[in-house]
Amino acid sequence: MDALNWVYQTYPTANAEYAGTIFPDSNGNYVATVPNPGTEAESNPSYPPGGYSQVDAYYHTHGQCTKGMNGGNDVFSSGDLLNADFHYPHAVPAFLETPGHKILRYDPDPNDPRHKKGATTTIQSGCDCPRN
Ligand SMILES: [Zn+2]
Repeated sequence: MDALNWVYQTYPTANAEYAGTIFPDSNGNYVATVPNPGTEAESNPSYPPGGYSQVDAYYHTHGQCTKGMNGGNDVFSSGDLLNADFHYPHAVPAFLETPGHKILRYDPDPNDPRHKKGATTTIQSGCDCPRN
């Protein structure tokens, strides 16, 4: 959550996604990687020093509200959910901060982790993008 808020504080007008991952450090604390900038609608996360296998969760931001998206910036995309669902060897949670600073958390369904069936919860409230 701090990492997500940091992205918007650091790049307040960036019309691009930023994506990183969360991993446990040697003290057992959860640490976020410095995010990779992406494009308006795409990003590839940065990985922990220990690589892909050290990933405990994904996080990314959705940049600015995109005209014509009709709120698409305010929710996880299908690709976002599949990214979390298809983490190997097991699915991991994903966090998203929207342009209105809402933070959403997606938890893959442990009984059916590869089909976007997990639950999404709002962990920080914010504004919605205008519908247009
Ligand atoms: Zn996304």
